[in-house]
Amino acid sequence: MVILKTRKEIQNFLSSFHQNSTLIGFVPTMGALHKGHISLIERAKRECTVVVSSIFVNPTQFNDLNDLKNYPRHLEEDCVLLEKAGCNALFAPEIEEMYSSDELLLKKNKIEDKNWTEGKAINFGKLETVMEGASRPGHFNGVAQVVSKLFRIVQPNKAYFGQKDYQQLAIIRSMVRQLKMPIEIIGCPIVREKNGLAMSSRNERLSTSERAAASIISETLFEIKQLHTSKTVNELKEIAKKSIAKEPKVHLEYFEIADAETLQPISEFLSAKAAVAFIAAKVGLVRLIDNIEL
Ligand code: AMP
Repeated sequence: MVILKTRKEIQNFLSSFHQNSTLIGFVPTMGALHKGHISLIERAKRECTVVVSSIFVNPTQFNDLNDLKNYPRHLEEDCVLLEKAGCNALFAPEIEEMYSSDELLLKKNKIEDKNWTEGKAINFGKLETVMEGASRPGHFNGVAQVVSKLFRIVQPNKAYFGQKDYQQLAIIRSMVRQLKMPIEIIGCPIVREKNGLAMSSRNERLSTSERAAASIISETLFEIKQLHTSKTVNELKEIAKKSIAKEPKVHLEYFEIADAETLQPISEFLSAKAAVAFIAAKVGLVRLIDNIEL
């Protein structure tokens, strides 16, 4: 696997593949890789000729500077995992390679962008006013901003994203549609720990007891899935709240049942073709999200 730090290097590496119309698969990440990330690489490997991954902890999608500072980083171990999974190239740029200085202004506890670059200017409508969009203002614009930049640099045929970040996946699909990017977006299933906890780079910041307590999040989702044909949406919401409240280390931020496509909360199952249950909760200082298709 080649490790490339600049746009020029990655574009040089990919130029002959682009010229020959070789199928390029792309897996963008923020590193601290686990089996969830690797499942995306493996899927890309099965479906494409060349697989490119990126590791970039994107400052514009963080609302909290402490979260950005504490985000786990271990590039060397990540490279070993990527290499083993058969990734062909890793793009691991520094911040300056991705943003010009006036595009990005880091201020005290706030991260501000002066310029509304492409991803920032997209209107995601109601997709970004609910759940993660409501809890983390500006987060999805930051995600779209960096992913649109990465897509322009790599120009993949297919890009792979986890359903773990279900709302992010919907945002990326919307972005690609709006910018008319010729990239197929592929959603991949959530990979879980043995105790059900959805794998996440943030899990490594949990203590042993917090990690055990955090399993209540997926247990609650599994229970809701089991009950959803015999209960109303409101009854399920009450059951979920009570279930999470049993675990004092876990503080529920939201539990929502939403239309799988529009992500708008529903009050009865008949109003949506398919529904998804979403949870965000804090365990100690770590904020976790998870979801399940009903
Ligand atoms: P991140 O490094 O957290 O930005 O994640 C990079 C990609 O990996 C995103 O598309 C995530 O949705 C995906 N991902 C993260 N955790 C998991 C998981 N447990 N299962 C499947 N995909 C995941």
